[in-house]
Amino acid sequence: MRVFRSRLVSRFSWRRASAGYSRQMAKVPGKGEECYLCGSEGEMTKDHIPPRGIFPRPLPSNLVTMPCCLKCNQSFHADDEYFRTVVSAFIDRTNSGKTLWDQRVVPNTIKRGRIKKALSEMRASAEPVILPTSAGWVQGVAFEYHALPIERVLVRMTRGFLRKKFPEIDQSLLDFRMAPIVQFRFDEMAELLNQMPSFSIGGEVFTCWVGAVRDKLGFGIWFYQFHRSAAYSVEHKPKHSEWLLPRETR
Ligand SMILES: [Zn+2]
Repeated sequence: MRVFRSRLVSRFSWRRASAGYSRQMAKVPGKGEECYLCGSEGEMTKDHIPPRGIFPRPLPSNLVTMPCCLKCNQSFHADDEYFRTVVSAFIDRTNSGKTLWDQRVVPNTIKRGRIKKALSEMRASAEPVILPTSAGWVQGVAFEYHALPIERVLVRMTRGFLRKKFPEIDQSLLDFRMAPIVQFRFDEMAELLNQMPSFSIGGEVFTCWVGAVRDKLGFGIWFYQFHRSAAYSVEHKPKHSEWLLPRETR
């Protein structure tokens, strides 16, 4: 059996994932539906946050969607597929992740040859490792993956949740950045996370801890965990202000 551990990639680039987004993000209350990413109006699709693809079938009933224009919606399918592959490949994922891998990733992504280049890079980077897990020492395979598509998905998701929870915030005035959290150290953050409001979608598939508050408008750190394993934070702040977390802790 092939098992994986994630590891950061040396060609990891912190180029802004949000650079491609339009600045027309100001929320105009009372107007009709507008795309939550580019602000355009007109015919809308529904974008799922987090991406629907991370949920094994049958889908949970409490999926969250945001109005999204067709152009934006069509622009991130490859990112979502890459994201789904990565977060269901972690060695200590729950059964939901294993099911997703067997039910969706293997037949749809791997066998059909989608995101072929990215997958072959991931395979080429694989190396055997011994891992300290809560279940003891486990033999696994470490692989490298690109940060940028992961960041784009997570920033997009954060924009959606932020829009839902804090519609008064003009997101064009914010910077966003993602940081991975080492999966085996996530439990150490339990005390911090327990003090934050949180919600889950699809049981163990997705949990979000919300570190944004109204009296600190524009500042926030959102923590995400997928299949109780792959974990990331997304931080946002008003442009021209300091990040809350120093760079070296990321
Ligand atoms: Zn759009």
